Amino acid sequence: MSEPLVVIGNGMAAARFADELSKRALGRYAIAVVGEEPRLAYNRVLLSSVLAGEVASSDIELKSRDWWHDRGITLRYGCRATGIDTSARTVTLADGASLTFSKLVFATGSQPIRPAIPGMDLPGVITFRDINDIWTIWHRAGSGDRVVVIGGGLLGLEAAYGLAKAGARVTVLHLMDRLMERQLDAHAAAMLRRAVEAMGIEVILNADTAEIVGQNRPEAVLLKDGRTIETDVVVVAIGIRPSADLARASGVVVNRGIVVDDAMETNVAGVHAIGECAEHRGICYGLVEPAHDQARVLAERLSGRDARYLGSVLATNLKVSGVNVFSAGDFLRQETDEIVLRDPGIGVYKKFVIADDRLVGAVLFGDTADGPWYLDLIRSGASIDAIRNDLAFGRPAAKSAPHVPLAA
Ligand SMILES: Cc1cc2nc3c(=O)[nH]c(=O)nc-3n(C[C@H](O)[C@H](O)[C@H](O)COP(=O)(O)OP(=O)(O)OC[C@H]3O[C@@H](n4cnc5c(N)ncnc54)[C@H](O)[C@@H]3O)c2cc1C
Repeated sequence: MSEPLVVIGNGMAAARFADELSKRALGRYAIAVVGEEPRLAYNRVLLSSVLAGEVASSDIELKSRDWWHDRGITLRYGCRATGIDTSARTVTLADGASLTFSKLVFATGSQPIRPAIPGMDLPGVITFRDINDIWTIWHRAGSGDRVVVIGGGLLGLEAAYGLAKAGARVTVLHLMDRLMERQLDAHAAAMLRRAVEAMGIEVILNADTAEIVGQNRPEAVLLKDGRTIETDVVVVAIGIRPSADLARASGVVVNRGIVVDDAMETNVAGVHAIGECAEHRGICYGLVEPAHDQARVLAERLSGRDARYLGSVLATNLKVSGVNVFSAGDFLRQETDEIVLRDPGIGVYKKFVIADDRLVGAVLFGDTADGPWYLDLIRSGASIDAIRNDLAFGRPAAKSAPHVPLAA
Protein backbone atom coordinates (compact mmCIF):
# COMPACT_ATOMS: atom_id res chain seq x y z
CA MET A 1 0.00 0.00 0.00
CA SER A 2 1.20 3.55 -0.76
CA GLU A 3 2.54 5.56 2.17
CA PRO A 4 0.47 8.70 2.87
CA LEU A 5 2.50 11.86 2.18
CA VAL A 6 1.03 15.31 2.81
CA VAL A 7 2.50 18.50 1.37
CA ILE A 8 1.33 21.74 3.00
CA GLY A 9 1.45 24.61 0.49
CA ASN A 10 0.59 24.60 -3.22
CA GLY A 11 3.32 26.94 -4.43
CA MET A 12 6.45 26.60 -6.54
CA ALA A 13 8.40 24.31 -4.20
CA ALA A 14 5.43 21.98 -3.79
CA ALA A 15 4.86 21.71 -7.54
CA ARG A 16 8.52 20.98 -8.23
CA PHE A 17 8.66 18.43 -5.43
CA ALA A 18 5.56 16.63 -6.75
CA ASP A 19 7.14 16.56 -10.19
CA GLU A 20 10.52 15.27 -8.99
CA LEU A 21 8.97 12.66 -6.72
CA SER A 22 6.53 11.33 -9.28
CA LYS A 23 9.40 10.93 -11.76
CA ARG A 24 11.30 8.80 -9.27
CA ALA A 25 8.77 6.97 -7.15
CA LEU A 26 5.34 7.11 -8.75
CA GLY A 27 2.95 4.99 -6.72
CA ARG A 28 5.17 4.63 -3.68
CA TYR A 29 3.34 7.46 -1.91
CA ALA A 30 -0.29 8.53 -1.79
CA ILE A 31 0.35 12.27 -2.14
CA ALA A 32 -2.03 14.99 -0.96
CA VAL A 33 -1.22 18.68 -1.54
CA VAL A 34 -3.03 21.15 0.72
CA GLY A 35 -3.00 24.76 -0.50
CA GLU A 36 -4.51 27.90 0.91
CA GLU A 37 -4.66 29.70 -2.43
CA PRO A 38 -7.83 28.67 -4.27
CA ARG A 39 -6.08 27.71 -7.50
CA LEU A 40 -3.55 25.38 -9.05
CA ALA A 41 0.12 26.14 -8.36
CA TYR A 42 1.43 28.96 -10.53
CA ASN A 43 4.73 30.58 -11.36
CA ARG A 44 4.94 33.32 -8.74
CA VAL A 45 8.11 34.74 -10.35
CA LEU A 46 5.98 35.83 -13.30
CA LEU A 47 3.59 37.91 -11.19
CA SER A 48 5.68 40.99 -11.94
CA SER A 49 5.25 40.34 -15.65
CA VAL A 50 1.51 39.85 -15.11
CA LEU A 51 1.33 43.18 -13.29
CA ALA A 52 3.24 44.83 -16.15
CA GLY A 53 0.71 43.37 -18.62
CA GLU A 54 3.41 41.31 -20.35
CA VAL A 55 1.97 37.89 -19.42
CA ALA A 56 -1.66 36.86 -18.86
CA SER A 57 -2.54 35.56 -15.40
CA SER A 58 -4.09 32.51 -17.09
CA ASP A 59 -0.70 31.64 -18.61
CA ILE A 60 1.33 31.17 -15.44
CA GLU A 61 -0.11 27.86 -14.20
CA LEU A 62 2.76 25.45 -13.54
CA LYS A 63 0.91 22.18 -14.19
CA SER A 64 -2.51 21.48 -15.66
CA ARG A 65 -5.31 19.92 -13.63
CA ASP A 66 -4.81 16.73 -15.71
CA TRP A 67 -1.12 16.60 -14.80
CA TRP A 68 -1.93 16.38 -11.09
CA HIS A 69 -4.77 13.94 -11.75
CA ASP A 70 -2.67 11.66 -13.95
CA ARG A 71 -0.13 11.27 -11.16
CA GLY A 72 -2.77 10.34 -8.64
CA ILE A 73 -2.10 13.44 -6.51
CA THR A 74 -5.02 14.64 -4.40
CA LEU A 75 -5.30 18.44 -4.45
CA ARG A 76 -6.99 20.18 -1.53
CA TYR A 77 -6.56 23.78 -2.57
CA GLY A 78 -8.50 26.76 -1.27
CA CYS A 79 -8.06 25.17 2.14
CA ARG A 80 -5.63 26.13 4.87
CA ALA A 81 -3.88 23.56 7.06
CA THR A 82 -4.54 24.71 10.61
CA GLY A 83 -3.05 22.10 12.91
CA ILE A 84 -0.59 19.22 13.01
CA ASP A 85 -0.25 16.42 15.50
CA THR A 86 3.20 14.98 14.93
CA SER A 87 2.56 12.06 17.32
CA ALA A 88 -0.77 11.01 15.82
CA ARG A 89 0.65 11.98 12.39
CA THR A 90 -2.38 13.99 11.31
CA VAL A 91 -2.94 17.36 9.64
CA THR A 92 -6.15 19.26 10.36
CA LEU A 93 -7.63 21.50 7.68
CA ALA A 94 -9.68 24.67 8.02
CA ASP A 95 -12.77 22.84 6.72
CA GLY A 96 -12.51 20.38 9.61
CA ALA A 97 -11.09 17.49 7.57
CA SER A 98 -8.14 15.53 8.86
CA LEU A 99 -5.40 13.90 6.79
CA THR A 100 -3.13 11.14 8.02
CA PHE A 101 0.51 11.20 7.03
CA SER A 102 3.57 9.05 7.24
CA LYS A 103 5.69 11.79 5.69
CA LEU A 104 4.92 15.51 5.89
CA VAL A 105 6.45 18.30 3.82
CA PHE A 106 6.10 21.96 4.73
CA ALA A 107 6.21 24.08 1.55
CA THR A 108 4.38 27.07 2.99
CA GLY A 109 6.59 29.79 1.46
CA SER A 110 6.76 33.28 2.95
CA GLN A 111 4.57 36.20 3.84
CA PRO A 112 5.22 39.82 3.02
CA ILE A 113 6.48 41.84 5.98
CA ARG A 114 4.05 44.57 6.99
CA PRO A 115 5.78 47.26 9.05
CA ALA A 116 4.12 48.12 12.36
CA ILE A 117 3.26 51.70 11.49
CA PRO A 118 -0.04 53.59 11.72
CA GLY A 119 -2.17 53.31 8.59
CA MET A 120 -0.95 49.88 7.45
CA ASP A 121 -4.48 48.47 7.76
CA LEU A 122 -6.12 51.06 5.52
CA PRO A 123 -7.84 49.68 2.42
CA GLY A 124 -5.53 50.55 -0.45
CA VAL A 125 -2.35 49.52 1.38
CA ILE A 126 -1.41 46.40 -0.55
CA THR A 127 1.37 43.83 -0.47
CA PHE A 128 2.74 42.05 -3.54
CA ARG A 129 2.86 38.29 -3.11
CA ASP A 130 0.04 36.48 -4.86
CA ILE A 131 -2.50 36.74 -7.67
CA ASN A 132 -5.07 38.29 -5.34
CA ASP A 133 -2.65 41.14 -4.61
CA ILE A 134 -2.36 41.84 -8.34
CA TRP A 135 -6.14 41.99 -8.71
CA THR A 136 -6.33 44.34 -5.72
CA ILE A 137 -3.60 46.55 -7.19
CA TRP A 138 -5.40 46.69 -10.54
CA HIS A 139 -8.68 47.46 -8.84
CA ARG A 140 -7.20 50.30 -6.76
CA ALA A 141 -4.51 51.86 -8.95
CA GLY A 142 -5.63 53.03 -12.34
CA SER A 143 -4.06 55.30 -14.91
CA GLY A 144 -3.21 58.70 -13.43
CA ASP A 145 -3.48 57.53 -9.81
CA ARG A 146 -0.64 58.29 -7.45
CA VAL A 147 1.06 55.20 -6.02
CA VAL A 148 3.76 55.03 -3.40
CA VAL A 149 5.80 51.84 -3.42
CA ILE A 150 7.57 51.30 -0.11
CA GLY A 151 10.70 49.27 -0.82
CA GLY A 152 13.34 49.72 -3.51
CA GLY A 153 14.41 46.09 -3.70
CA LEU A 154 13.72 43.69 -6.55
CA LEU A 155 10.01 43.29 -5.80
CA GLY A 156 9.36 46.97 -5.13
CA LEU A 157 11.03 48.02 -8.38
CA GLU A 158 9.17 45.39 -10.39
CA ALA A 159 5.90 46.57 -8.86
CA ALA A 160 6.80 50.20 -9.60
CA TYR A 161 7.61 49.35 -13.20
CA GLY A 162 4.33 47.47 -13.70
CA LEU A 163 2.32 50.29 -12.18
CA ALA A 164 4.13 53.00 -14.16
CA LYS A 165 3.52 51.02 -17.33
CA ALA A 166 -0.19 51.02 -16.51
CA GLY A 167 -0.10 54.82 -16.30
CA ALA A 168 0.12 55.34 -12.54
CA ARG A 169 2.32 58.12 -11.13
CA VAL A 170 4.76 56.16 -9.01
CA THR A 171 7.13 57.13 -6.21
CA VAL A 172 9.49 54.52 -4.74
CA LEU A 173 10.54 55.05 -1.14
CA HIS A 174 13.64 53.16 -0.06
CA LEU A 175 15.09 53.08 3.42
CA MET A 176 18.70 52.63 2.32
CA ASP A 177 21.03 54.97 0.44
CA ARG A 178 20.88 52.90 -2.75
CA LEU A 179 18.39 50.71 -4.60
CA MET A 180 18.67 46.90 -4.40
CA GLU A 181 21.52 47.20 -1.90
CA ARG A 182 21.54 43.46 -1.30
CA GLN A 183 22.18 42.71 -4.98
CA LEU A 184 24.06 45.76 -6.29
CA ASP A 185 27.10 47.80 -5.42
CA ALA A 186 26.90 51.60 -5.33
CA HIS A 187 27.83 52.12 -9.02
CA ALA A 188 25.30 49.67 -10.42
CA ALA A 189 22.65 50.99 -8.02
CA ALA A 190 23.24 54.56 -9.20
CA MET A 191 22.87 53.47 -12.83
CA LEU A 192 19.71 51.60 -11.92
CA ARG A 193 18.29 54.67 -10.23
CA ARG A 194 18.87 56.75 -13.36
CA ALA A 195 17.22 54.10 -15.53
CA VAL A 196 14.21 53.85 -13.22
CA GLU A 197 13.83 57.64 -13.08
CA ALA A 198 14.01 57.76 -16.87
CA MET A 199 10.79 55.73 -16.84
CA GLY A 200 9.10 58.53 -14.96
CA ILE A 201 9.31 56.81 -11.58
CA GLU A 202 10.37 59.06 -8.72
CA VAL A 203 12.92 57.53 -6.33
CA ILE A 204 13.44 58.80 -2.79
CA LEU A 205 16.33 57.19 -0.90
CA ASN A 206 16.97 57.28 2.87
CA ALA A 207 13.20 57.37 3.22
CA ASP A 208 12.05 56.00 6.57
CA THR A 209 8.27 55.71 6.61
CA ALA A 210 6.61 56.88 9.83
CA GLU A 211 2.94 56.66 8.96
CA ILE A 212 0.39 56.18 6.23
CA VAL A 213 -2.12 58.94 6.64
CA GLY A 214 -5.75 58.69 5.53
CA GLN A 215 -9.36 58.10 6.54
CA ASN A 216 -10.77 55.28 4.42
CA ARG A 217 -7.83 55.03 2.04
CA PRO A 218 -4.23 56.26 1.94
CA GLU A 219 -3.93 59.99 1.35
CA ALA A 220 -0.25 60.50 2.10
CA VAL A 221 2.88 58.78 3.35
CA LEU A 222 4.67 60.61 6.12
CA LEU A 223 8.41 60.10 6.47
CA LYS A 224 10.30 60.30 9.76
CA ASP A 225 12.20 63.36 8.52
CA GLY A 226 8.89 65.19 8.12
CA ARG A 227 8.49 64.89 4.35
CA THR A 228 5.01 64.03 3.08
CA ILE A 229 4.23 62.25 -0.21
CA GLU A 230 0.61 62.44 -1.31
CA THR A 231 -0.80 59.23 -2.71
CA ASP A 232 -3.94 57.22 -3.52
CA VAL A 233 -2.48 53.74 -3.10
CA VAL A 234 0.47 52.26 -1.20
CA VAL A 235 2.22 49.06 -2.25
CA VAL A 236 4.42 47.59 0.47
CA ALA A 237 7.38 45.48 -0.68
CA ILE A 238 9.94 45.63 2.11
CA GLY A 239 10.72 41.95 2.45
CA ILE A 240 9.37 38.58 3.42
CA ARG A 241 9.35 36.29 6.41
CA PRO A 242 9.03 32.50 6.24
CA SER A 243 5.55 31.11 6.95
CA ALA A 244 6.53 28.90 9.87
CA ASP A 245 3.88 29.49 12.55
CA LEU A 246 2.09 26.22 11.88
CA ALA A 247 5.35 24.28 12.17
CA ARG A 248 6.29 26.11 15.37
CA ALA A 249 2.91 25.38 16.93
CA SER A 250 3.33 21.67 16.20
CA GLY A 251 6.66 21.41 18.01
CA VAL A 252 8.92 21.58 14.96
CA VAL A 253 12.04 23.68 15.61
CA VAL A 254 11.77 27.10 13.98
CA ASN A 255 14.39 29.78 14.03
CA ARG A 256 13.72 32.40 11.35
CA GLY A 257 12.44 29.58 9.14
CA ILE A 258 11.72 25.89 9.72
CA VAL A 259 15.11 24.44 10.60
CA VAL A 260 16.19 21.56 8.35
CA ASP A 261 19.37 19.53 7.94
CA ASP A 262 21.08 18.60 4.68
CA ALA A 263 18.37 15.95 4.14
CA MET A 264 15.70 18.70 4.31
CA GLU A 265 14.38 17.02 7.45
CA THR A 266 13.27 18.86 10.59
CA ASN A 267 13.85 17.76 14.18
CA VAL A 268 10.80 15.49 13.80
CA ALA A 269 11.54 12.29 11.86
CA GLY A 270 9.64 12.15 8.57
CA VAL A 271 8.72 15.84 8.73
CA HIS A 272 10.45 17.98 6.11
CA ALA A 273 10.52 21.56 4.84
CA ILE A 274 11.49 22.97 1.44
CA GLY A 275 11.38 26.37 -0.26
CA GLU A 276 11.11 29.76 1.34
CA CYS A 277 9.71 28.43 4.64
CA ALA A 278 12.87 26.37 5.26
CA GLU A 279 16.03 27.48 7.03
CA HIS A 280 19.10 25.51 6.01
CA ARG A 281 22.47 26.15 7.68
CA GLY A 282 21.09 29.45 8.99
CA ILE A 283 19.89 30.67 5.59
CA CYS A 284 16.30 31.28 4.46
CA TYR A 285 16.44 31.68 0.70
CA GLY A 286 14.00 34.06 -0.95
CA LEU A 287 14.43 32.82 -4.51
CA VAL A 288 13.03 29.99 -6.55
CA GLU A 289 16.19 28.16 -7.58
CA PRO A 290 17.14 27.05 -4.06
CA ALA A 291 13.53 25.90 -3.63
CA HIS A 292 13.87 23.74 -6.74
CA ASP A 293 17.23 22.34 -5.57
CA GLN A 294 15.73 21.48 -2.19
CA ALA A 295 12.68 19.87 -3.81
CA ARG A 296 14.93 17.66 -5.92
CA VAL A 297 17.08 16.58 -2.98
CA LEU A 298 14.03 15.69 -0.90
CA ALA A 299 12.47 13.76 -3.79
CA GLU A 300 15.73 11.81 -4.20
CA ARG A 301 15.78 10.92 -0.52
CA LEU A 302 12.13 9.95 -0.34
CA SER A 303 12.63 7.66 -3.29
CA GLY A 304 15.39 5.85 -1.42
CA ARG A 305 18.49 7.51 -2.87
CA ASP A 306 21.19 9.34 -1.01
CA ALA A 307 21.27 13.06 -1.69
CA ARG A 308 22.21 16.09 0.37
CA TYR A 309 21.46 19.76 -0.03
CA LEU A 310 24.59 21.80 0.59
CA GLY A 311 23.27 25.32 -0.10
CA SER A 312 22.86 27.45 -3.21
CA VAL A 313 24.77 30.29 -4.85
CA LEU A 314 22.24 33.05 -5.37
CA ALA A 315 21.67 34.96 -8.57
CA THR A 316 19.09 37.60 -9.38
CA ASN A 317 17.74 39.26 -12.49
CA LEU A 318 15.52 42.32 -12.39
CA LYS A 319 12.46 41.78 -14.57
CA VAL A 320 12.08 45.33 -15.83
CA SER A 321 12.03 45.53 -19.57
CA GLY A 322 14.92 47.55 -20.96
CA VAL A 323 16.83 47.59 -17.66
CA ASN A 324 19.22 44.66 -17.55
CA VAL A 325 20.54 43.90 -14.10
CA PHE A 326 22.22 40.70 -12.95
CA SER A 327 23.90 39.92 -9.69
CA ALA A 328 25.36 36.67 -8.38
CA GLY A 329 27.46 35.36 -5.54
CA ASP A 330 29.38 37.38 -3.00
CA PHE A 331 30.14 40.71 -4.63
CA LEU A 332 30.80 42.63 -1.42
CA ARG A 333 33.47 40.33 0.02
CA GLN A 334 36.49 42.13 1.46
CA GLU A 335 40.16 41.29 0.74
CA THR A 336 39.49 40.22 -2.81
CA ASP A 337 40.56 41.39 -6.26
CA GLU A 338 38.09 43.30 -8.36
CA ILE A 339 37.88 43.67 -12.12
CA VAL A 340 35.63 46.54 -13.13
CA LEU A 341 34.55 47.51 -16.63
CA ARG A 342 32.62 50.76 -16.81
CA ASP A 343 31.29 52.54 -19.86
CA PRO A 344 28.72 55.14 -18.81
CA GLY A 345 28.40 56.21 -22.45
CA ILE A 346 26.64 52.98 -23.40
CA GLY A 347 25.27 52.32 -19.92
CA VAL A 348 27.39 49.26 -19.19
CA TYR A 349 28.92 48.36 -15.85
CA LYS A 350 30.47 45.03 -14.89
CA LYS A 351 32.19 44.13 -11.68
CA PHE A 352 33.85 40.80 -10.91
CA VAL A 353 35.07 39.80 -7.49
CA ILE A 354 37.91 37.29 -7.43
CA ALA A 355 39.30 35.39 -4.47
CA ASP A 356 42.09 32.80 -4.75
CA ASP A 357 41.87 32.88 -8.55
CA ARG A 358 38.20 32.04 -8.46
CA LEU A 359 35.23 34.16 -9.39
CA VAL A 360 33.10 34.58 -6.25
CA GLY A 361 30.74 37.38 -7.25
CA ALA A 362 29.54 39.39 -10.25
CA VAL A 363 27.38 42.45 -10.80
CA LEU A 364 26.29 43.32 -14.33
CA PHE A 365 24.34 46.35 -15.48
CA GLY A 366 23.34 47.03 -19.07
CA ASP A 367 24.82 43.93 -20.69
CA THR A 368 23.73 40.83 -18.79
CA ALA A 369 23.83 38.28 -21.61
CA ASP A 370 26.70 36.35 -20.01
CA GLY A 371 25.15 36.30 -16.54
CA PRO A 372 24.43 32.54 -16.60
CA TRP A 373 27.99 31.83 -17.67
CA TYR A 374 29.43 33.90 -14.83
CA LEU A 375 27.06 32.11 -12.46
CA ASP A 376 28.36 28.74 -13.67
CA LEU A 377 31.91 29.94 -13.12
CA ILE A 378 31.07 30.96 -9.55
CA ARG A 379 29.30 27.67 -8.85
CA SER A 380 32.02 25.51 -10.37
CA GLY A 381 34.76 27.14 -8.30
CA ALA A 382 37.06 26.69 -11.34
CA SER A 383 40.25 28.70 -11.60
CA ILE A 384 39.82 31.73 -13.86
CA ASP A 385 43.56 32.27 -14.13
CA ALA A 386 43.66 31.35 -17.83
CA ILE A 387 40.87 33.78 -18.79
CA ARG A 388 41.45 36.56 -16.31
CA ASN A 389 42.39 39.08 -19.01
CA ASP A 390 39.23 38.37 -20.97
CA LEU A 391 36.84 37.71 -18.12
CA ALA A 392 35.10 41.09 -18.28
CA PHE A 393 34.44 40.68 -22.01
CA GLY A 394 32.31 37.61 -21.50
CA ARG A 395 32.03 34.07 -22.69
CA PRO A 396 32.95 34.55 -26.37
CA ALA A 397 36.23 36.28 -25.45
CA ALA A 398 37.11 33.55 -22.98
CA LYS A 399 36.09 30.68 -25.25
CA SER A 400 39.60 29.66 -26.20
CA ALA A 401 40.66 29.05 -22.62
CA PRO A 402 40.86 25.27 -22.18
CA HIS A 403 40.44 24.75 -18.43
CA VAL A 404 37.27 26.66 -17.78
CA PRO A 405 33.75 25.21 -18.01
CA LEU A 406 31.94 27.03 -20.79
CA ALA A 407 28.25 26.49 -20.13
CA ALA A 408 25.85 26.53 -23.03
C1 LIG B 1 6.26 39.28 -7.51
C2 LIG B 1 7.34 38.27 -7.25
C3 LIG B 1 8.42 38.18 -8.11
C4 LIG B 1 9.44 37.26 -7.85
N1 LIG B 1 10.50 37.20 -8.70
C5 LIG B 1 11.46 36.28 -8.49
C6 LIG B 1 12.57 36.16 -9.38
O1 LIG B 1 12.71 36.92 -10.34
N2 LIG B 1 13.48 35.19 -9.15
C7 LIG B 1 13.36 34.32 -8.09
O2 LIG B 1 14.20 33.43 -7.94
N3 LIG B 1 12.34 34.41 -7.22
C8 LIG B 1 11.39 35.37 -7.38
N4 LIG B 1 10.34 35.46 -6.51
C9 LIG B 1 10.32 34.55 -5.36
C10 LIG B 1 9.72 33.20 -5.73
O3 LIG B 1 8.42 33.37 -6.23
C11 LIG B 1 9.71 32.31 -4.50
O4 LIG B 1 11.05 32.07 -4.12
C12 LIG B 1 9.01 30.97 -4.72
O5 LIG B 1 7.67 31.16 -5.07
C13 LIG B 1 9.12 30.13 -3.43
O6 LIG B 1 8.34 28.98 -3.55
P1 LIG B 1 7.64 28.35 -2.26
O7 LIG B 1 6.88 27.17 -2.74
O8 LIG B 1 8.62 28.19 -1.18
O9 LIG B 1 6.61 29.47 -1.76
P2 LIG B 1 5.28 29.96 -2.48
O10 LIG B 1 5.41 29.91 -3.96
O11 LIG B 1 4.93 31.25 -1.84
O12 LIG B 1 4.18 28.88 -2.07
C14 LIG B 1 3.75 28.70 -0.75
C15 LIG B 1 2.27 28.36 -0.78
O13 LIG B 1 1.91 27.81 0.50
C16 LIG B 1 0.62 28.27 0.83
N5 LIG B 1 0.43 28.12 2.29
C17 LIG B 1 1.06 28.80 3.27
N6 LIG B 1 0.62 28.38 4.48
C18 LIG B 1 -0.31 27.43 4.23
C19 LIG B 1 -1.14 26.62 5.08
N7 LIG B 1 -1.10 26.69 6.41
N8 LIG B 1 -2.01 25.77 4.50
C20 LIG B 1 -2.07 25.65 3.14
N9 LIG B 1 -1.32 26.38 2.31
C21 LIG B 1 -0.44 27.26 2.85
C22 LIG B 1 0.65 29.72 0.36
O14 LIG B 1 -0.67 30.22 0.22
C23 LIG B 1 1.38 29.58 -0.98
O15 LIG B 1 0.48 29.34 -2.04
C24 LIG B 1 9.34 36.40 -6.72
C25 LIG B 1 8.25 36.49 -5.86
C26 LIG B 1 7.25 37.43 -6.11
C27 LIG B 1 6.09 37.54 -5.15
